[in-house]
Amino acid sequence: MFLGIGTFKTAEPAFLTLVHLSPHTLGANKNQKVAVKRMYTRRRKPTEANPDAWVINRLATADEHRKILMEANVLLWATSLFNFAFAFIHSFISRSSTPPPFEIPTIRFVQAGVALLYEQPSTLGGNKPGISRSYLVEERIEEPRKGFYKFINNGSAAVLPQRDASLQTLAEFLAFTQHIQFWKTKGMVYISDLQGSATLLTDPQIMTSPEIGDGIEIFGDGNVPSAFKAFPEEHVCNHFCEWFQLPALDG
Ligand SMILES: [Zn+2]
Repeated sequence: MFLGIGTFKTAEPAFLTLVHLSPHTLGANKNQKVAVKRMYTRRRKPTEANPDAWVINRLATADEHRKILMEANVLLWATSLFNFAFAFIHSFISRSSTPPPFEIPTIRFVQAGVALLYEQPSTLGGNKPGISRSYLVEERIEEPRKGFYKFINNGSAAVLPQRDASLQTLAEFLAFTQHIQFWKTKGMVYISDLQGSATLLTDPQIMTSPEIGDGIEIFGDGNVPSAFKAFPEEHVCNHFCEWFQLPALDG
């Protein structure tokens, strides 16, 4: 049973027990609840009842491996950029004469790792054991409200309407972190496709300026050049941006 099916990945529930428990991060406890993610493509399989029906088609070994490593790298860089925004927030508060008149949300990206399945040479036809499958393993998002929310898309900086005021404030806070990243990197990079629960985010995209990377996709398919260019115009400053005195973006 799937936890969810996204545009490029499926997510299934699983439990993780490492041979050597990891001291701080994913795998610190036995039987940790995780989500196992795999890449897929949709293969059309029309039926009489549903001419638009499709089935899940897994990728070839090498392609799957490359894409899973890219997904893991995007998550790693997103975590770093998100922490970078929080470093600015905490530094600004420590220098301010008054505390902010609002709470700073406790939210972060999921911890994750890559799991590889090796198969014996006989099944793969080579001399050495080779990687046959690649998976992205993430701590599982579970919270009492059982909610999974999309806060901001990757095609636009607009904050998406949320079902209640506290989620709306959280979405605005995330837009504010995008503004910090864009400003502090001098317009080079920010995190988009912000989604998850009210405390844990997953499946981000990293948006980079079309001027860097020489046309190479540094962070995968989700990097939308037109959205990056439109960011300064589409981002609407909110009460977080104002209290933290972020400079207006040149729209
Ligand atoms: Zn702003």
